[in-house]
Amino acid sequence: MYTTTTGLVLRDSVYKESSRILTVLTDSMGKITVNARGAKRKGSKLMGATQHLAYSEMTIFTEKGRHTLTEARPIELFEGLRDDLALYALGTYFSELLETFSNEDIPDPEILSLGLNCLYALSAGKTDPALVKAAFELRLMCISGFEPMLDGCVKCGKEPEVPAFSVQGGTLMCASCRVGDYEARLIGRGTLAAMRHISCSEPKKLLSFSVGESTARELGSVCESFLIAQLGQDFRSLDYYKQVRQI
Ligand SMILES: [Zn+2]
Repeated sequence: MYTTTTGLVLRDSVYKESSRILTVLTDSMGKITVNARGAKRKGSKLMGATQHLAYSEMTIFTEKGRHTLTEARPIELFEGLRDDLALYALGTYFSELLETFSNEDIPDPEILSLGLNCLYALSAGKTDPALVKAAFELRLMCISGFEPMLDGCVKCGKEPEVPAFSVQGGTLMCASCRVGDYEARLIGRGTLAAMRHISCSEPKKLLSFSVGESTARELGSVCESFLIAQLGQDFRSLDYYKQVRQI
């Protein structure tokens, strides 16, 4: 059976010299593994469209549960990422997260759309990459069932005057209510406002917020810690991004 779909290449590995095995997040088939025969061969029409982080239209032949790529045409290659080591590393971290949070053969257009929007923003270079990273991490958690409870203090129900956020519990509380719960860290009101925006905004307005330098730093740290605490795993691509960001 042939299917035409669009998809973002999350991972590509070389297979038998001239071919590639791709992990692709597609819009209609979910996350799939595809054999791209001959895609590594010089002059192959599949080459550009099958590289890591390419978003392409693909025709896929499926037989006995195995997918083979027969045609591919690039839609967006995110060129702005490809000549910047740190941005490409951040894009790679995004693709590792997308791979972690998506399911085999189950379409999840919201996750794909979030990934594409954030890669567009990184590639266009108009938004601070640190803010794109924080927004991507927190929003991905929200749409994957890990939405933090940010409406009010989890203990007294009021709007905290001095807010604290527990990355373990995903809960908000007042500094004065966190007795015995000192894992919850104090956060600024600007950080809380940004977290609420990222959690609740319309998808198109996700990145339409601005914060000062210290709030950006705190927001970045809280969103990353929340994701790592909830998943309980480290990401090699994140470590690599942190290394190259400093170069
Ligand atoms: Zn309280």
